[in-house]
Amino acid sequence: MDRIVIIGAGQGGLQAAISLRQEGYTGALTLIGGEAGLPYQRPPLSKAYLKSGDAAALRLRPESFYDKNAVELVTETWVDRIDRAGRVVHAGDRSFAYDHLILATGTRNLRPPIPGAERCLDLRTLADAQTLRTVLDSPKRCAVIGGGFIGLEFAAVARGLGHDVTVAEAAPRLMARVVSPEISSYFKDLHKRLGTVLHLGDPAAEVTGAGMVLKSGTEVAADIVLMAAGVVPNAELAGEAGLEVNNGVVVNDRLLTADPDISALGDCAVFPDPTTGRPVRLESVQAATDHARLIAKRLIKGEDMPYAAVPWFWSDQADAKLQIAGLAAPGDATHRRADGAIFRFADARLSAVETVNNARTHMQARKALAGPDVSRAALAAVDYDFAALA
Ligand SMILES: Cc1cc2nc3c(=O)[nH]c(=O)nc-3n(C[C@H](O)[C@H](O)[C@H](O)COP(=O)(O)OP(=O)(O)OC[C@H]3O[C@@H](n4cnc5c(N)ncnc54)[C@H](O)[C@@H]3O)c2cc1C
Repeated sequence: MDRIVIIGAGQGGLQAAISLRQEGYTGALTLIGGEAGLPYQRPPLSKAYLKSGDAAALRLRPESFYDKNAVELVTETWVDRIDRAGRVVHAGDRSFAYDHLILATGTRNLRPPIPGAERCLDLRTLADAQTLRTVLDSPKRCAVIGGGFIGLEFAAVARGLGHDVTVAEAAPRLMARVVSPEISSYFKDLHKRLGTVLHLGDPAAEVTGAGMVLKSGTEVAADIVLMAAGVVPNAELAGEAGLEVNNGVVVNDRLLTADPDISALGDCAVFPDPTTGRPVRLESVQAATDHARLIAKRLIKGEDMPYAAVPWFWSDQADAKLQIAGLAAPGDATHRRADGAIFRFADARLSAVETVNNARTHMQARKALAGPDVSRAALAAVDYDFAALA
């Protein structure tokens, strides 16, 4: 293999380049990204960066890395077509030939079809975060559409900086898609304590020059409205090239599409969940980086291993660090341990553990979930104490 091209110079795309070189790949390596500048990490955009404005601290690797590792970084370049038969990708009048292609195109913000949505600000890219920082340089009334991780992280920082914040969430509870009702309730109390006004089960119906109007008719006066209502995978490129797309680029348990010359990873990839086999698409640094490592091992070392990493995730909201090990479905049962750790179960099997400011239990849970099945009965027998399992 002499030419590997990666589309998307974000967290996963860059990790793929790093891992390919680490595994001993010596051929040509091109990393193409639509954004300007060096690849950077997104998580701090809704956390530390909003406070510090330190863009250099976000860089995943220094400029010298690319020359030193012979990674051709092509920035501000949008790939618009994949020619699978010719094994070449096109970006305007430029083209890049490949022996293997890695799709790491991530996601973009969802724009729900509500009147005035075009007035909203976003928080996905460094450019978005820079705009928000500028806007927040004087006291503002901020409205947030979406009570998920990004909307709530922004809300916590904005409140901390002294701005007025109102969050509207369509679901009856916060972060409903991904956490238990107990954790939703913990964070509802936290944000209320911080002084954020929450409207749950009441989605934004319109964005106006004066703020937003909710479905209930409630008018929220605001100087800015942040849209944080979820994302859409950037999968059109793959779909137009005839690859299967279903809420993302569909790959098998080797993270390979139906085309043996094209892999996909990270936020844009739909892969079989190692435990349940159901197709999942994760939006996390962990998935993007672990996917990249597996693909590099397969391409360079010929290691034909199924993807089996335990998912994990974190979110910082004010002084609360939420950590999730594993992957629960919304209907999974919950058990609340005395210290507040939430154990989730799909039937009798542990599916996830959610903790707040409890890194020890989080790490224990990741270890346990990577081991042989941890059953509800086994955990109940030791009073949900991982240490006593051994
Ligand atoms: C504000 C914010 C906070 C977050 N906080 C956390 C957190 O606390 N913990 C956590 O685990 N995760 C967090 N995430 C999610 C995490 O950042 C993503 O899961 C991760 O970046 C996914 O990596 P990726 O490589 O798949 O996609 P990305 O990092 O999004 O990179 C995809 C890149 O591909 C480029 N691209 C797309 N199409 C093309 C094309 N046709 N041509 C060229 N380039 C293209 C895009 O411009 C983008 O730069 C956060 C995300 C955001 C936005």
